[in-house]
Amino acid sequence: MPELARRSLLLGLSAAALSACVSRPVSVPGAPADRPFPKVLSRRDRITRTVVGLRPFRPQGFRLEAEAFGEKTVIHNYGHGGCGVTLSWGTCQRAAVMAGEAGRLDVAVLGGGVMGLTSALILARRGHDVTVYADVMHPNTTSNVAGALWLPSSLYDRDVASEDFLRLNWQVTREAHRGFLPYVNRPGYGVSWVHHSEVSERVREPRWALPGGDDLYPGLEVLTAQTRFGFAYEERYHTLMIDPDYYLDMLMKDAQLAGARFVSWRFETLDELLALPEPVIVNCTGLGAAKLFADETLIPIRGQLSHLLPQPEIDYSYTGWGNGGSLYMFPRKTGLVLGGSHGRGDVSMDVSEEELTRMVDGHAALAERAAFSTSASNQAISGLFSGA
Ligand SMILES: Cc1cc2nc3c(=O)[nH]c(=O)nc-3n(C[C@H](O)[C@H](O)[C@H](O)COP(=O)(O)OP(=O)(O)OC[C@H]3O[C@@H](n4cnc5c(N)ncnc54)[C@H](O)[C@@H]3O)c2cc1C
Repeated sequence: MPELARRSLLLGLSAAALSACVSRPVSVPGAPADRPFPKVLSRRDRITRTVVGLRPFRPQGFRLEAEAFGEKTVIHNYGHGGCGVTLSWGTCQRAAVMAGEAGRLDVAVLGGGVMGLTSALILARRGHDVTVYADVMHPNTTSNVAGALWLPSSLYDRDVASEDFLRLNWQVTREAHRGFLPYVNRPGYGVSWVHHSEVSERVREPRWALPGGDDLYPGLEVLTAQTRFGFAYEERYHTLMIDPDYYLDMLMKDAQLAGARFVSWRFETLDELLALPEPVIVNCTGLGAAKLFADETLIPIRGQLSHLLPQPEIDYSYTGWGNGGSLYMFPRKTGLVLGGSHGRGDVSMDVSEEELTRMVDGHAALAERAAFSTSASNQAISGLFSGA
């Protein structure tokens, strides 16, 4: 896949970003004189758990719109692919405004993942009488499986998404970022800044803006020397890490405190759903919308994450390419998260031993690579990283 197409798929770049290619020259001299990076100890005997989840992906991007069913209004808010946590405050705020426009107080929120919980909280705080209906609740939703770095990725296919969607996505991304800022370092919420590196073997010249605009990523540096792991190219910046185990817990408590009620329920048919007493329904069912609303465009993208024992000295994250696929590492207080698998259309929830080996070995090789400081040294082990 060409580099631009691959990256736009991985990072969900918008038309606005693409049309606003940043002509700023790649900086080479004066690259940061960082201390050496502490190494990730990527070994099987350090794995505490391996989890699998299915990203709710739509090639044309998320669905955010109102649909009338007789006297009922359904506000769709699903299909956020690999960045539902990232976009939650953006699309949920807009969904809540749409629900308010329906002019009724009672609102049903369908779904107890990050979209359902955020929607419920916003609606309850806006004075609505909110009931959340969900088959699976926190801590067992796909949202609990997420990485979850604040970075739009695996959100749409560039050749399918419309210009209107790309413009909307650009705005929603900015609103979503603003929504998270009040939570940074708030005790118990698991939201903090992390110094993130996106590395690749191909120099992006000209480069294009990061999703939502470069200004959302403080401390942005573009490097072609002294890069992390000695790759040819690096974009290094600060972004947010969200630990879903903490964050979703607090979100649910906040929604309850604001007055939202929670009902455990699985809807098998649309008719069953439309029989709810609430005149307005906010649909945050993620992949569940495929069956409930006959949305055939929804595609699961399987992801597998291995959690390692904590390494408090690791205060950086990375996304890169190696060992036959993408690789990323996010540090949490509770441990390091290794990921990077994207199985489009794959619905298997079993742990793949093959993928586990690819990841553990791939991250271990990256960690070794960190020990080398010259590009000549890196060439010696570059076989593992062809395709980067
Ligand atoms: C491996 C992996 C890594 C990821 N990493 C990141 C990341 O780094 N950053 C990021 O932002 N995002 C990431 N994501 C994506 C993110 O997890 C999803 O986009 C997000 O969880 C979608 O949230 P949701 O609330 O729409 O869906 P879900 O969390 O799936 O919640 C859907 C809810 O709807 C309910 N529901 C569905 N159907 C029915 C029904 N018929 N009746 C009743 N209830 C129903 C479910 O029970 C559930 O409560 C990752 C995902 C995976 C799998």
